[in-house]
Amino acid sequence: MEKLKQAVLQALSTVEDPDLKKDLVSLEMIQSLQVTFEKVTFTLVLTTPACPLQEYLKKACIEAIRSHVSKEILVDITTTARVTATQSQVGRLPNVKNIIAIASGKGGVGKSTIAANLAVSLAQQGATVGLLDADIFGPSIPTLFGCEHEKPIVEQVENKKYLVPLVKHGVKLISIGFLTPQEGAVVWRGPMASTALRQFLYDTAWEELDYLLVDLPPGTSDIQLTLVQAVPVTGAVIVTTPQKLALADVVKAIAMFKKSAIEVPILGLIENMAYFIPEELANKQRYYPFGQGGGKELADNYDVPFLGEIPLITAIRETSDEGVPAAKASTELGNLFKDLASALAQQVSIRNIQLFPTQRVLRK
Ligand code: ADP
Repeated sequence: MEKLKQAVLQALSTVEDPDLKKDLVSLEMIQSLQVTFEKVTFTLVLTTPACPLQEYLKKACIEAIRSHVSKEILVDITTTARVTATQSQVGRLPNVKNIIAIASGKGGVGKSTIAANLAVSLAQQGATVGLLDADIFGPSIPTLFGCEHEKPIVEQVENKKYLVPLVKHGVKLISIGFLTPQEGAVVWRGPMASTALRQFLYDTAWEELDYLLVDLPPGTSDIQLTLVQAVPVTGAVIVTTPQKLALADVVKAIAMFKKSAIEVPILGLIENMAYFIPEELANKQRYYPFGQGGGKELADNYDVPFLGEIPLITAIRETSDEGVPAAKASTELGNLFKDLASALAQQVSIRNIQLFPTQRVLRK
């Protein structure tokens, strides 16, 4: 039987993960392998529960066993996921595998809406997800999750106090908005906001997280710098709308993360409000009020992955206002965001295997 097991492993080592460019056996993605003359059973350990290649890889495994071992043998594959982490030594949050900055060149492009829906969608697909709202100019996460009137509690562990994040729609939430009165009377000055962000990162009881999304203010402010100085950031996602004026600011945002002193990889670009479909999704005719293909073209020009596009849909605004992110509120919108979240998770896995861990930026 041992010989047969070796033959199965040999067959599976011919299957390559097209993203990670290595075979499944050397990536240790094949676990708990059991082989009898009738049946092969194993667990396929993916690098993210949101893996878009799941079905492709399962099919490739079955085909490899059928063609290299036996045409008749039954193949029973269970899938699970172990999210890869950015393995930086200094300054990483002990329980958090990946910190992902969600940025934009301009305000009002839907950055917070996209951040909220990516977080919900990753959680729906089985990942453990946190969302930190650091948008000091307009913290909208409390509204998007319908918890404007709630406050995180403080927990004391030994001599240290921790904020306990709220949990909404499967996502652990902390927002700078929880510390601001609803009337919005507080004007966050640079140093105050930076202190608050550090506190949110270090003094929140995040527990185990696969992904911590950080919703940044638009443009390039002190907060961006504070983030990259405080923790090693896995990568940044840039949200934009398609019109030329918005794209010009995206170039500045990309340049900031790519600066040699910062060197945070860009995980991808998302085009929001990319097109408009009247009558929601019923009529499939697409209109492009802000121009077509600008985001994709810019991503190609700057050698940044294009993660996908989200249309302008009334329901996205309505559900946001009602405090239920669109990814949760409707199956059709849920599917749109599922593809986007999978594309992001895929880029995180690729980044963690191909690039060096990000280093925290030294404070001058
Ligand atoms: P930002 O964080 O970039 O300032 P927001 O996420 O707060 O932007 O979005 C700005 C406004 O646009 C909100 O009212 C939001 O509901 C709406 N919005 C965002 N994306 C979409 C979309 N794809 N379709 C319809 N409305 C959207």
